[in-house]
Amino acid sequence: MNIVEIIEKKKNKKHLTDEEINYVITNYLSDVISDGQMGALLMAICLNGMNDEETFSLTEAMLNSGEKIDLSSIDGIKVDKHSTGGVGDKTTLIIAPLVASCGIPVAKLSGRGLGHTGGTIDKLESIVNFKTSLDNDYFINQVKNINIAIAEQTKNLVPADKKIYALRSITSTAASIPLIASSIMSKKLASGVDKIVLDVKTGSGALIPDLNESIKLAKLMVKIGKRFNKETIAIISDMNYPLGISIGNGLEVKEAVEVLRGLGNKNLTKLSLTIATYMVSLAKDVTLDVAKREVTENLYNGKAFDKFNDFVKAQGGNLNNVTICEKTYKVKSKRSGYLNDIDEVSLANACLDLGSGKRFKNDVVKSGVGAVLTKMIGDYIKVGDTLVIIYYDDKKVPQDEIESMFKIDKQRSKKEPLIYGIIK
Ligand code: URA
Repeated sequence: MNIVEIIEKKKNKKHLTDEEINYVITNYLSDVISDGQMGALLMAICLNGMNDEETFSLTEAMLNSGEKIDLSSIDGIKVDKHSTGGVGDKTTLIIAPLVASCGIPVAKLSGRGLGHTGGTIDKLESIVNFKTSLDNDYFINQVKNINIAIAEQTKNLVPADKKIYALRSITSTAASIPLIASSIMSKKLASGVDKIVLDVKTGSGALIPDLNESIKLAKLMVKIGKRFNKETIAIISDMNYPLGISIGNGLEVKEAVEVLRGLGNKNLTKLSLTIATYMVSLAKDVTLDVAKREVTENLYNGKAFDKFNDFVKAQGGNLNNVTICEKTYKVKSKRSGYLNDIDEVSLANACLDLGSGKRFKNDVVKSGVGAVLTKMIGDYIKVGDTLVIIYYDDKKVPQDEIESMFKIDKQRSKKEPLIYGIIK
């Protein structure tokens, strides 16, 4: 077997065997296959796809590339959620304590920001002194004690995905259905949970913007879950606009707190409640109505917020001490009309320019920078109205540039739905 023949095969739209896929993963991890060769194969996969059997093999090969977490010492059904990534997507910060407050153990391993999309670990690190790197025993004991822990994925959890993902992001091969499905599902399978709820984003800010392609991705991940005996449900949700009002790590923690106090943005609250409802229904084997009642009660009676507080304290932080920049400027509208769209990818990239995430390996993440929207889709805007408040540290992004990211028209256009469907 050799890598050049394997690349050639995929280039010519042929199917790879289980052995060939295992050969690629093993030899790429041990540096026998170079980044150049792997990049060429990833591009061939991106252009020519993989069938289900190939994607199952790739998921399994990645899953077996490192350690698997054993959560069996924690009583109860462990259910996890994963989003395919979006702008302003802070649902994990809301859902994890909400589900834990319903008595379900949440043992969650999360990642950092990727491209224009944010990551839970970067957000949590905006809480001063919050520890995201926990050793295994500490992590499991915390879940046993307070039902919730969120830690950074260890180096050894699906190392093949770590290496391949880094290469995908610099070879324009991130947006591929089999590559996304195997990347996400190998990590979920390795993390030791019993059941999985996926939030598959669709729309201009998603990795896979087209709705039909997003449905294919959702169906494929649900099939992978079945293949590995993990019940999996996928919710397809909108990513044409930012989720909630804030983008940026500390600002997103603050917004999550608002939702947990029952005072948050409507769409963000609704999506969080929906995902939490499916998680509770799966974990407790109760109807969606029963689960919805419980999560809604716990969101509005303060139990979910108390759980968030306990969790933050257990990992060394304090919710009164979240990094948010003091310096701000307002971006005002030069136009009047209805706010019909926000270019969320450009706005997220502007936040990256402020320092909200890394563009290069050695960049330092600035927890306190970001943007808070003051107008929502459908609002009527007058000249001079503030559209967004920018929180900055040293670098600024020109106001005109940001103002042009807001689409303002004379007529109000139809809003996209928040949730497009559920795949089981
Ligand atoms: N999230 C992941 O973990 N992997 C992908 O490929 C895309 C989103």
